[in-house]
Amino acid sequence: TDLVKHFPVGGGLFRKESPPVRAVDGVSFSIGRGETLGLVGESGSGKSTLGRLVLRLLDPTSGTVTFDGQDITTARQSQVKPLRRRMQLIFQDPVSSFNPRMTIEDLLMEPMVVHGIGTPAERKRRCAELLDQVGLASSALAKYPHQFSGGQAQRIGIARALTTDPDLLVCDEAVSALDVSIQAQVLNLLKSIQQEQGISYLFIAHDLNVVRYISDRVCVMYLGKLAEVGGSDRIMADPLHPYTQALIRSIPAVTASSSRVERIPLQGEIPNPSKPPAGCRFHTRCPLKFDLCEQEEPQLHERDGSLTACHLYRPEASA
Ligand code: SF4
Ligand code: MG
Repeated sequence: TDLVKHFPVGGGLFRKESPPVRAVDGVSFSIGRGETLGLVGESGSGKSTLGRLVLRLLDPTSGTVTFDGQDITTARQSQVKPLRRRMQLIFQDPVSSFNPRMTIEDLLMEPMVVHGIGTPAERKRRCAELLDQVGLASSALAKYPHQFSGGQAQRIGIARALTTDPDLLVCDEAVSALDVSIQAQVLNLLKSIQQEQGISYLFIAHDLNVVRYISDRVCVMYLGKLAEVGGSDRIMADPLHPYTQALIRSIPAVTASSSRVERIPLQGEIPNPSKPPAGCRFHTRCPLKFDLCEQEEPQLHERDGSLTACHLYRPEASA
């Protein structure tokens, strides 16, 4: 609720006070049990920071995170630890986070040891079960991380995240480094795990196609703020915010008449998050901007169960 994360900049040698990076600048959302909430936006929009705030791997500048009815923002680290077991992070490159000298079995054991889960014999059994669940043979247990392909390594990353039986998984660009065919396999694996275990996912990616495939609802994030929130089918079929429209237009599409890939790139670069544009943050790149856009910041307004922060949809405009 109202999450803000500003990172101080500079200091040090030049002593000049720079404005902070406003990575997350007032974001509210909720994720239901067993729901997948997609979070999409270009790199630099603050998605990863938001994911880490949810897990309390970062402390917010202001705002609160409530997990299963408990405010975890004010909880002490000692109180956060038992909750941490229920929330796990899966990220883009699992191998880089694995100790290369640990076997897969050791890597899967580690979170269970840290959280005091099970006896040694139960942990061993659980490792084999988890590998089977993610579609790997138990012979993988004795191997080392570098012996696996990217897709297999991500399966191991997922197995490791599942060792503590979490209620929430934050997946940050979890399939972005994989080939498209492998992406689909890993996404399907995540879907089937969710169906079996009722886990909630916060699924973060820059690729709207990937987000759409797995999400029930989608949050579109631009420069530290939410631009649009809605059901993923509606977002794809009828995007309201000009930024969402631009993201959809930039998805490569193969036309029927030729195999030519049509792609309209988003105009311009995402602005510096230390100095976001006044008014609507998207106005410097928006083809539909008008006078008000530079003067007044649009708030999220609800319409038909969706939220959009754009002056084109302000209640007065349709009245
Ligand atoms: Fe474009 Fe204005 Fe809407 Fe911002 S508020 S997205 S600049 S039309
Ligand atoms: Mg990121």
